[in-house]
Amino acid sequence: MNVLVIGRGGREHALCYKFSKDASVDKVFCAPGNAGIAEHATCVDIKETDQHALVEFAKSNDIALTVIGPEQPLSEGLADAFAAAELKVFGPSQKASAIEGSKAFAKELMKKYDIPTAGYETFTDFAEASVYIKQKGAPIVIKADGLAAGKGVVVAMNVKEALQAAEDMLEHNRFGASSAKVVVEDFLDGEEFSFMCLVNGNRIIPLALAQDHKRAYDNDEGPNTGGMGAYSPVTHLPAETEETAMKEIIKPVVEAMEKEQLDFTGVLYAGLILTSEGPKVIEFNARFGDPETQVVLHRLKSDLAHLLLSLLDGEDGSTEWSDETVVGVVIASEGYPGDYQKEQPLASILKADTFFYHAGTKMSDDEIVSDGGRVLLAAGAGANVEAAQTQVYQALQSVHSDHFFYRTDIGNKALKRS
Ligand code: AMP
Repeated sequence: MNVLVIGRGGREHALCYKFSKDASVDKVFCAPGNAGIAEHATCVDIKETDQHALVEFAKSNDIALTVIGPEQPLSEGLADAFAAAELKVFGPSQKASAIEGSKAFAKELMKKYDIPTAGYETFTDFAEASVYIKQKGAPIVIKADGLAAGKGVVVAMNVKEALQAAEDMLEHNRFGASSAKVVVEDFLDGEEFSFMCLVNGNRIIPLALAQDHKRAYDNDEGPNTGGMGAYSPVTHLPAETEETAMKEIIKPVVEAMEKEQLDFTGVLYAGLILTSEGPKVIEFNARFGDPETQVVLHRLKSDLAHLLLSLLDGEDGSTEWSDETVVGVVIASEGYPGDYQKEQPLASILKADTFFYHAGTKMSDDEIVSDGGRVLLAAGAGANVEAAQTQVYQALQSVHSDHFFYRTDIGNKALKRS
């Protein structure tokens, strides 16, 4: 079959790389793709937002399966456009993608169906939000309601910081329309992990657990980012964690979506935290996570295209995994998640002896250059976290650039706990 992946980041590189190895796949196309994706797929110059051109491309290139990577096109109804043209697409409808597109919607759904998550209130008025924040005290979490590229969350350690964040969002439109409403949430303490499941209606195929590293710098310091690195599997969590999360969170939310007539098709990504009371939801995403997808799919032995197509056809499926641990380290532009320079050459980094997933890269005069905040993810594999870390960090030590930085502690949490 021919497969189309929509997007241009590391997650889409991982999808294209995986599809290029799947026995069931003849040709992989990616719109618009990036410099690394071009090594495994035919990149097509169509933007993620150009619904008409994407549908026409799928029709005229005999595409049997389309996978939509990023959240923005999903929340704009791209999956609906494919479904209307009777094309098979793995991604939720615009309405169902609200589970990610509106944190207030996700919180209301969890409250209604008794799904464990942090207590909260929503606000559109800063004066009302500040009364609540002062009454609750810190630590407290302020979240923009809408999409904000993973940067719309402030974990405030004191009331002043919380008030500042709420004021920035509600009064100064920090994230435009996305922060016209905010969710103010109780702070949860515990180990975070990511649980992605392939879903169609009430059929659920769980993927291996991963752990992301959201903060910009080592020891979880600095601002939140889209994700600075990840590893999979996560073996230091108590053995029953995945089963409990499936029983208390994933299944109930999938059933809740059905009851609300918002049947979910696509990746249901649960960002979870293991508290003393068990796993609780930090957020839901309606698509593959980035950078979790890179480390999770790196370990998937099963034919992904076949798995997704069977699921869309209403069949169950099972997965087979490599025993290896994969550690992925994001190489980001100096200054990210704030301002940074683009168009910096990457040849000196790409010569490191490890596998790179490309995120913000492009070709410029036959040279690969940076084109975003998160630029590459270096992936190392080994028998355990330590071995995978050694592989990737030794490779990265041999290269140096003033224009990029990476965290040197991806995976350390697993070592501390085990
Ligand atoms: P989100 O974009 O909702 O995943 O939030 C980004 C990050 O903020 C998460 O990965 C957590 O590290 C942190 N965070 C979000 N909500 C909470 C919470 N209620 N308690 C503690 N930390 C949180």
